[in-house]
Amino acid sequence: MINKESPMSYFGKEIITGNWTISLDTKRLSMCPGASKLLELSRNKDRGLHCIFEMIDPQERWKLIREFNMAIRNKASFEKQVKILTINGQTKWMHIRGVLNYRRWGTPDKMIGIIEDITQKQIEESTSLSIVSHELRTPLTIIKLNMQMVKGLLEHNTFHGIPRLLERADFHVDFMTRLIEEYGRNSGIRNHVRTDLIQFNLRQLIESIVTEVKTMYSSHRFSTNLPTEILVRADKYKILQVLVNYLTNAVSYSPHASLVCVNAMIAHGFVVVSVHDQGIGVPAGAEEQIFEKFYRGTCFKQSSSRNRGLGLYLVKQIITQHGGEVKAEKGELKGSVFTFTLPVSFHGGNL
Ligand code: ADP
Repeated sequence: MINKESPMSYFGKEIITGNWTISLDTKRLSMCPGASKLLELSRNKDRGLHCIFEMIDPQERWKLIREFNMAIRNKASFEKQVKILTINGQTKWMHIRGVLNYRRWGTPDKMIGIIEDITQKQIEESTSLSIVSHELRTPLTIIKLNMQMVKGLLEHNTFHGIPRLLERADFHVDFMTRLIEEYGRNSGIRNHVRTDLIQFNLRQLIESIVTEVKTMYSSHRFSTNLPTEILVRADKYKILQVLVNYLTNAVSYSPHASLVCVNAMIAHGFVVVSVHDQGIGVPAGAEEQIFEKFYRGTCFKQSSSRNRGLGLYLVKQIITQHGGEVKAEKGELKGSVFTFTLPVSFHGGNL
């Protein structure tokens, strides 16, 4: 039996479903108050189907009508997800499901069904997809670069260095595989950050990523100032994501030929890693907001239009999950300083 109006939970957020009936003889639609509310229509009115169709993009509308008619002809159930534009100008996603109701003598007289607002789910899925495509860009470029370097070495019959380049490419392939797997598992960003902790020397990770970023962005100069050993117990791929986001942003938001500096120091059981650039600087007053989902400053002309203000949001999620903190501030003279901290560990365990 279909509930009149039932609140349901999707990822902890309350959504509403409602029910509807279409008479196959009169083609009139009636909806429960919940369904009318979802569609932002006046309550309890029996209405023509056109009032729903008008909310749907014309191309999708014809598909919906075709599939609806087909379901009736084949005596099958009907199911479709549609994007609608309500009369109040709201874009929403609806999941519509229906089954035929039969008269006593066996012919169908109406279709009855449920309408469910899946807007939140759609937003989360598209955000999740944006995150994956955002995060895949850098490892893909690095793999390509490593492959080009291998090709260059082979052309000169120089084999020394090839195993290292292939090893790096392999590391990034594993990283990409992990990201894609996570996306498949979660299909939403809520649980996006899973951590697989191992103990490693963060200095080596920083040095190798700076070397790769240096090759990618010959437009900039890079320098590092790091302690010999920074032992952390962390998820190597996730920390790589953090470094990549900070470094690629430093390049995107600073002028050609300027210096990007990565420093690290250990204090009070934490390592403090900072990326300094000589660019436009963090927008005044936005030091915290900058780490929020979808935040984009007013001056993002140098970044790609595919950027959606997700990089720093992810950075914060990752670092917080590791027990560290993030910070963005203006550089001493100019540019920005983006910092993250992580608890350091002794050989064999955490502090
Ligand atoms: P996006 O992928 O859109 O760049 P981010 O989350 O990485 O998203 O960054 C969000 C915003 O923070 C950017 O649009 C930009 O305004 C600002 N920002 C990030 N890094 C820097 C930086 N190094 N210098 C100045 N502004 C920055």
